[in-house]
Amino acid sequence: MTNTEDCSIAGCGQAFATSLGGEPFCLEHFISVCYERLDRYDDFRKGAGLNVTEMEALRRFIHECTRHADEIEHEAMDLDNLDRAKLLHIILSASELGRYLRRSPRKAASIAVRLSSDKMGGSWEEDTETVVLSRHGALMRCNHVAKPGETIQVVRADTGEKAQARVAWQRPLNRDDVRIGVEFVACENFWGLDWGAVEEAR
Ligand SMILES: [Zn+2]
Repeated sequence: MTNTEDCSIAGCGQAFATSLGGEPFCLEHFISVCYERLDRYDDFRKGAGLNVTEMEALRRFIHECTRHADEIEHEAMDLDNLDRAKLLHIILSASELGRYLRRSPRKAASIAVRLSSDKMGGSWEEDTETVVLSRHGALMRCNHVAKPGETIQVVRADTGEKAQARVAWQRPLNRDDVRIGVEFVACENFWGLDWGAVEEAR
């Protein structure tokens, strides 16, 4: 690789090997950061499970860490056997987590909703639609700014049903298409789906 950027870990100063989430890492730190995140996601998976937002983040992470580990494993000339074994282990662990993700039900579905925020001094309302549903939340299009942790109201246009939801993240796909990930605060099966059947159909 021809990148001249150094590792982003403070005090490391070793040469760039690859990046993760836009941050440059040396080989050693790429490996340790991958292990750290794989462990963390694995703990979530065994414990409370992952919410829709964490699943999106995990999907991106798996894709990126697998691709980059694979590139280094194939291209780096000065790799010792231990580093090579670690990279292969990272690829394997990531693919195991990927299998878990494929088993977790989520459903691509467009349902018309009205989102509203009654935040002091900045209340807004937006008619929009869902992109992906999960048991406890959804990804939706939303062009109003909402910060993680804020609570917004979701109203289904078809049934009129309402629920409070917590914003988990928001990020633009492109200039006119901003996505928001929310989790319902306290709502059983807001989407009225038979999640057992959704899981079966996968
Ligand atoms: Zn480093």
